Amino acid sequence: NQNLQITTMGKGGSGKSATIIKFIQTYFVEEYDPTIEDSYRRHFTVNEKEYRLDILDTGCGEEYETFRMDYIKETDIFLLVYSITDQSSFQFLKDQEYMEIMRVASEEKEYSIIVIGNKKDLENEREVATKEGKEFAEEIGAYFVEISAKTDNLVPLFEKIITFHLEG
Ligand code: GDP
Ligand code: MG
Repeated sequence: NQNLQITTMGKGGSGKSATIIKFIQTYFVEEYDPTIEDSYRRHFTVNEKEYRLDILDTGCGEEYETFRMDYIKETDIFLLVYSITDQSSFQFLKDQEYMEIMRVASEEKEYSIIVIGNKKDLENEREVATKEGKEFAEEIGAYFVEISAKTDNLVPLFEKIITFHLEG
């Protein structure tokens, strides 16, 4: 029985909370409250082994810098979420969130980064090409996927993410 700390990062409005709530509670949240910060615990079986997932869904409230540094140091799997309909959310991942992980994450810990391009159901509003997301992920050695928190079942995604992390 193993614990995995999973942390969402990304610009407000990208769909971090929608993604986590869809996975944990299997419904889609239409409302948007960028400040909500919550943690979830779920037991999850992957390849016949059980893991305890501790998921921190970060909000964009005022956070103490030391708190942020602590959870970054403890994270096993970072979910870097942007919206394919918002180029600025993609830039934010590259310029802010990824840079912060690089600055703060501990060198001893074997963490994984997952780059998630969300809202792929809104194809006609797309501002970020699939290729851009893929190239960024390749550059930083991350796993890349485009999803819709609205229309996708996210259980298979979390299986893939955890497998990616465990296989290094
Ligand atoms: P957060 O600030 O990153 O946690 O973003 P939220 O999860 O609160 O989502 C922001 C808004 O985008 C909400 O109104 C959600 O309903 C909406 N949203 C999130 N994911 C999707 C998606 O995959 N497709 C669509 N169409 N809307 C989404
Ligand atoms: Mg949120």
